[in-house]
Amino acid sequence: MRKIGVIGGMSWESTALYYRMINEEVKRELGGLHSAEMIIYSVDFEEIERYQANNEWEKATNVLADAAKSLEKAGADFFILATNTMHKVIDEVAAAVSIPTIHIADATAHVIKQSGFTRVALLGTKYTMEEQFYKGKLEQQGIQVSVPNEKDRMLINDVIFNELVLGDLRAPSKSGFLDIIGNLTHQGAEGVILGCTEIGMLVKSDDVVVPVYDTTQIHAKAAVKYALNKES
Ligand code: GLU
Repeated sequence: MRKIGVIGGMSWESTALYYRMINEEVKRELGGLHSAEMIIYSVDFEEIERYQANNEWEKATNVLADAAKSLEKAGADFFILATNTMHKVIDEVAAAVSIPTIHIADATAHVIKQSGFTRVALLGTKYTMEEQFYKGKLEQQGIQVSVPNEKDRMLINDVIFNELVLGDLRAPSKSGFLDIIGNLTHQGAEGVILGCTEIGMLVKSDDVVVPVYDTTQIHAKAAVKYALNKES
């Protein structure tokens, strides 16, 4: 089994989900008492969030590159960056080490294509919904991506940073998310990407009529497939 390196803490609430999902997937694949060989480097999210808000992406990159180097030194065979947003700088982080990584948007595009859909809605932080680093990856794979309008993007971003990263799950926020998803599917989206690793705590696939692509789950499963050397 390849040793999985996880750069986590963005937020730790979702890294805890990754830890559980990765182990559950290994158990499902191998049975018995099997569990994942995994090394987690969990950063202080307060610092990362400050760099994001101040547009100091280089400083955030340095923190993540150091984390990747630590994982490599500790024996990780590959690493995953357990956040969608910070994939904005994944190329620079990956360049700091010689072990490979699995891009969360590539893993997600793979699953969407496997399910046969091409038009999906994307929910995430304002960076993920508004910039090209994430949508572009999906579009390169022939997937059409729609995002909420400005007011809804603000609501989603506020809920992520003021509630979800703190593990604070509120019913009005959930119904707000479901209304936004309803509007986007009404406009033609065939599925919805939970493109922020905390959204799956609030919105479950049973809450939504169209397919839900939970990036935390997809990324965790992709890591296990690679760790076990299996094709999907
Ligand atoms: N975990 C979130 C994501 O997947 C947001 C936290 C962050 O800004 O990194 O994008």
